[in-house]
Amino acid sequence: MWGLNLQFGVGGVANLAYVVVVAAGAYTYAVLTLGPPAASGGFQHYVLGLRLPFPVALASAGLAGGVTGVLIGVTGLKRLRQDYQAMVMLVVSLMAGTVVAADTGLFNGNAGLSLIPNPISGVSGMTSGWPYVGIVAACCLIGFVVLRRFTTGPMGRALRAVRDDETAAAAIGKDVVRLRLVVQAAGGVFAGLSGALLVAFIGGWSPAAWAPVETLALLTAVIVGGMGSDAGATVGTLVVTVLLLQGVQFLPEIRSHPGLKEALGWMTLGAVTIAFIWVRPQGIVPERRPRHGREAPPTHVGRIEPLPPPASRPGAGGEAILEVERLVRRFGGVAAVDGASFTVRRGSITGLIGPNGAGKSTALSVISGFLEPGGGAVRFDGADVTGRPAHELARRGLVRTFQLAREFRGLTTLENLLVAAPGQRGEGAPGVLAGRRYWGGQERELVARARGLLAMFGMADREDEPARNLSGGQKRALEVMRALMTRPRLLLLDEPMAGLSPRLAERLEEVLLQLQRQGLSVLLVEHELDVVDRLCEQVVVMAQGRVISTGRMAELRTRREVQDAYVLG
Ligand code: ADP
Ligand code: MG
Repeated sequence: MWGLNLQFGVGGVANLAYVVVVAAGAYTYAVLTLGPPAASGGFQHYVLGLRLPFPVALASAGLAGGVTGVLIGVTGLKRLRQDYQAMVMLVVSLMAGTVVAADTGLFNGNAGLSLIPNPISGVSGMTSGWPYVGIVAACCLIGFVVLRRFTTGPMGRALRAVRDDETAAAAIGKDVVRLRLVVQAAGGVFAGLSGALLVAFIGGWSPAAWAPVETLALLTAVIVGGMGSDAGATVGTLVVTVLLLQGVQFLPEIRSHPGLKEALGWMTLGAVTIAFIWVRPQGIVPERRPRHGREAPPTHVGRIEPLPPPASRPGAGGEAILEVERLVRRFGGVAAVDGASFTVRRGSITGLIGPNGAGKSTALSVISGFLEPGGGAVRFDGADVTGRPAHELARRGLVRTFQLAREFRGLTTLENLLVAAPGQRGEGAPGVLAGRRYWGGQERELVARARGLLAMFGMADREDEPARNLSGGQKRALEVMRALMTRPRLLLLDEPMAGLSPRLAERLEEVLLQLQRQGLSVLLVEHELDVVDRLCEQVVVMAQGRVISTGRMAELRTRREVQDAYVLG
């Protein structure tokens, strides 16, 4: 259950094949603990039959769950939108059910497996189930501690960022596919373990026990309990399983309609899900985000730490950090970018202007790896990066912002900044396993840096606010700050001033000039020409996908082709 909350509530992966993973754990446990099929009288057929001890079988079930989770993830995740992904998962779970039911040699087919032992069944004189319940409770406790490590630290933050907006997550250098698979693996281990613990308790397992609808019950539990909240998932499971599915057992039996009670149960479940999505989408126990202690006041008010020095030759002031050559991008028959060439010099703020529809945003998307180029080349910092994925470019220091703000709405303002920091110790396996003492020191430095940025933009009082509550202008400022947290070397800004209050816009201008003095290069798309005039020495003018002019703003204003483009565009 917590596994599903990790995948769906925290990770945003609607894994409709979750029961398949539970079943994988259950079957693994069964065939590892059962004796050889012939020894049990030969009435059921299955593979293996190794009679392994409980802990080994349990661990194997966890492993099987993790592997199944990743396999399902690979089939369903790559390059698919979330709704398609949900469909794929549903199909996977239907197929898995059919295969297992039809193949009697593997897990005894439709009849299922029975007489599956559990650790106390061999001990003489133990007839009650309670000692086993104790073992299960202990496993749950350990599981919960591990789960909290996953969901509360920097790893959980990165996963939630991917859930809220995977495009924006890629823009700050997160490898979305890798994070999704990590979630599938971890959730799969939880599912596999729970499957094993379950079969060991009931002693039998058959395809009927893991019909695809069971996943829906679990998804309901996550939604009712509170998506992304560990406590919520627990409460939701109790409410849904106990109240709804067991509750209908007490209704009177109607002899003419034997399946009616069950159908009623599922209908209630559906109704409850819809009611919750409608009335209280955050669930019974809403997702809570951490607040950071205020004991340490911001250390660098009004100042930004120097950026790391450029990787290549020092003192190479005039040379290009970005070279765009005959770049092409078509949408259907329309060439949005049609052979555009220009350069951005290291340490400069270069303007990119042009009428609406000129192809400026599309050019930024192709350069930064969000759209495949239809032709041409992009060189960044001396290397050919044409067509490289966005997260890789972001890690190399080429970072863009979007024309429409893309905040991670479920994270606080401060977390939106923290999540963008590169090389976080808490985002790897050691960080998750070792917990705060491994990444706490780095986290404190990041908090200080993020507060420095917030102070620069006069938003220090908003740090614990969920980002969805910020004003439009604050969201846009947040996005620029988030990009700066990645320590970029070239920043591509898509109309950053649009929608900013005059005060915020003024701050942004100051910040950009200050960063430029520290070595940052910027490509600035902006329609406010006075801003371009103040910030940029070099300006590139685009119209209809092509570069029609370059030069200083003052010169460009007098040029005929530029005036025409603006009047005609
Ligand atoms: P700008 O940012 O300069 O205003 P854009 O790059 O947004 O221009 O758009 C350039 C052209 O490409 C426009 O004609 C626009 O309609 C078209 N375009 C942009 N994105 C898409 C898309 N995803 N699908 C189809 N056409 C698009
Ligand atoms: Mg645009």
